[in-house]
Amino acid sequence: MNQRNQTVKEPGLMCPVCGKFIPTSVAELLSCRGLDCPSCGLHLEINRAQSQKALEALQQLDRAHKRVNSTSRFNR
Ligand SMILES: [Zn+2]
Repeated sequence: MNQRNQTVKEPGLMCPVCGKFIPTSVAELLSCRGLDCPSCGLHLEINRAQSQKALEALQQLDRAHKRVNSTSRFNR
């Protein structure tokens, strides 16, 4: 595994075929249209029932990011 110290936590997932990171957004995940791997072209269907916990975690991450952004905007 090639683990780099990434400071930016992008929402996304690992491609089960080629192992590359597939960046996505919470909105994209929630839209239920599925994802395409940019490396190998695999189309992933999002099973919302099975991904419920992961989606909730991503939503929390998204909310936390927005909170940080608005906080830094207020504290200048
Ligand atoms: Zn792939």
